[in-house]
Amino acid sequence: MPAVKLLIKHLYVVLGAILSAGTATHAAPDQMNKARIAFVVMVRNAMEERDAALLIDSLHTFAGDAATSPIYVVLPDPLNTPGTLLKAKGARTVDLDLDTRFRGYPFADKVQACARAEELAEKKTDVLVWINTESLVVAPLRELDLAPGQAAAFRPVHIQNVGLSFGAAPDPFWAGIYKATGLTVDRAFPIESLVGSRKIHAYFNSGFFAVRPERGIMRAWKESFEKLVLDQEFQTVACSDDAHKIFLHQAVLSALAARLRREQIRMLPPSYSYPVNLHDKISPDQRARNLNGLVHMLSSETLRDGLWMDTLSVEEPLRTWLRKRLQGEPLPVARGIFRAEGSSNSYLVETADGNVLIDAGSAGGPESSLVRVNTKPVMAVLLTHGHADHVVEVPAWRAKDVPVVAQSEYAELQDYQRRLAGFLNPRFAVQFGGPSPFRDATGGGPGDKDGPSVFYSDTYTTDIGGIHFEAFHVGGETPDQSVIWARDRKAVFIGDNFYTSFPNLYTLRGTKPRWALDYVKALNKALDLHPDVLLPGHGVPIVGAAEVARQLTRYRDAILYVHDATVRGMNQGKDVWTLMREIKLPAELEVGESFGTVSWAVRGIYEGYAGWFDGNAANMYPQPAGLIYPELVRLAGSDAIGRRALELAKNGDALGALRLSDVVLGAEPSHPIALNARLAALKLLRKKSVNGIEARWLDHSIRLTESALGAMSAQAK
Ligand SMILES: [Zn+2]
Repeated sequence: MPAVKLLIKHLYVVLGAILSAGTATHAAPDQMNKARIAFVVMVRNAMEERDAALLIDSLHTFAGDAATSPIYVVLPDPLNTPGTLLKAKGARTVDLDLDTRFRGYPFADKVQACARAEELAEKKTDVLVWINTESLVVAPLRELDLAPGQAAAFRPVHIQNVGLSFGAAPDPFWAGIYKATGLTVDRAFPIESLVGSRKIHAYFNSGFFAVRPERGIMRAWKESFEKLVLDQEFQTVACSDDAHKIFLHQAVLSALAARLRREQIRMLPPSYSYPVNLHDKISPDQRARNLNGLVHMLSSETLRDGLWMDTLSVEEPLRTWLRKRLQGEPLPVARGIFRAEGSSNSYLVETADGNVLIDAGSAGGPESSLVRVNTKPVMAVLLTHGHADHVVEVPAWRAKDVPVVAQSEYAELQDYQRRLAGFLNPRFAVQFGGPSPFRDATGGGPGDKDGPSVFYSDTYTTDIGGIHFEAFHVGGETPDQSVIWARDRKAVFIGDNFYTSFPNLYTLRGTKPRWALDYVKALNKALDLHPDVLLPGHGVPIVGAAEVARQLTRYRDAILYVHDATVRGMNQGKDVWTLMREIKLPAELEVGESFGTVSWAVRGIYEGYAGWFDGNAANMYPQPAGLIYPELVRLAGSDAIGRRALELAKNGDALGALRLSDVVLGAEPSHPIALNARLAALKLLRKKSVNGIEARWLDHSIRLTESALGAMSAQAK
């Protein structure tokens, strides 16, 4: 049966190639008058690289004439994120040497990326299109074929945020921008925002737009933007809060666009840049009925989790395409090794006798396309660890009598998650943005028919089809974590002890201590094996002995640095908060913090070693600091504290505002000023957040606060 399916699949591939070749030939004369289009996207980390891979696949599949257009991928951090996955898709990568003066200023990298791409594209391209990575293109991009007199294409903003209401006199922010760009307010024609239909002076969305490179708009953008960033007075007077800093780039671009005559701009229809994250806020008559009716959709967060499909429906044939794409097709990694990405990476290693599967995540089941890359049977499943995202398909393999091998701590890992299900599941649900993936944790110890069938304690060895496999127990992210070595392929499967981000030495959803030195042990074990290929549980594999050694060494040193700095600080008598603030990775060890953060790790290490008591006698007793909040509120007045919290939030002190709102809400849980201050503070933090887990918890708190406010206004009615 698999042979037939494989044959059919090959037939489709061949047929597809013939069809697309035919289309290209016939379309050629027609193409003569069409604009030459190129795209530019920016990829800062592994998460964005995977988002961009999905975007590029959607462009290749649905963009019509533009499907074969060049794609420039600008890489501000090529050392950590070299764009391997995207190069394999034919994208052209461009390293960006970020001007250090603008490092850390919101979207300075995006502005520089566009200017650089415009320079490169100028002679070769008629229309250069910027697309945010968290985007999908699902229909031909016909509106990008600009008419001869048109110089750019834009969508009005979705929400007004810092936009200048039409007819209002320019505030210092817009006055500064108009001055820097040479625009006058009377020339800034009105547009209407998608949400709330607000009339605003020319203000465009910068998630998707197009320019004629010869006009130099992107380079002018960089010049004006950077001038305003360096203008101390402008920054202090007009741009001191986060909202203005965050939207400065978009405002400057809008002013430059408005310098064109109105008819030189093609105003893109609402089927472009459709913001799925704002779907519920869009008035029903403007709201998209489904994805199929759109051309381009974007979001403020990843589309790869498919969660947005609960909000915006997707009909066939798009539905099947997306489902398949999100499930992940098998990708060749190295000789005889394939990867498929689902809830985690699953890997298939070919041997002379059959296949060995490493981890059984959602893309590694008996029916997956991964196991159909050849017609051989799966001889064994080896697990790097027992987290649900790596073992969901274990019961299916056991049902087929395939041996599944795990380290013996696996049983306790499953048991403790079951033991604490009532505590952990709601927190898992927040962190994973949906129902807990651990709800159906698979079997535990020996004899359990749903769980692994073979357990080992220190090492496990097997020879299958001429390949020698070894598993070494190391610990780390979980107590059962092992490093798996396929000697004859020089490949190390490191599980979740290596990410393209600092690891979660403590994770906010709650977990037993994860020992930093166990991660170090795992990374040293991997280094000792001198692998040619490093295959992580999540993200893109690393190929090449020197590169593998470099990245493993740097990752180990980063963890060791944070561990040692924490221990040193503890011995010097410093408290945990001080160390959380003080300890920062040196530049050469910055591995990114999109998953774990250094400050959480510091506290994880500190309390992992020392437990919860901080030496303050007040903390020996079961009454928390919040116990006296009602006292404070009685002394100072809830309105006064609430107003101060609002003021702090307005001045950008989100944490101060959050703490003060805690005080008021500890005494009066539905105090409106405090709730509003809290909401403003949470939203500020959310905008700044570059860490996926932090963002999820902030979203959760925002929802709670909004519903408290909603309940209150309902009561008032
Ligand atoms: Zn995992």
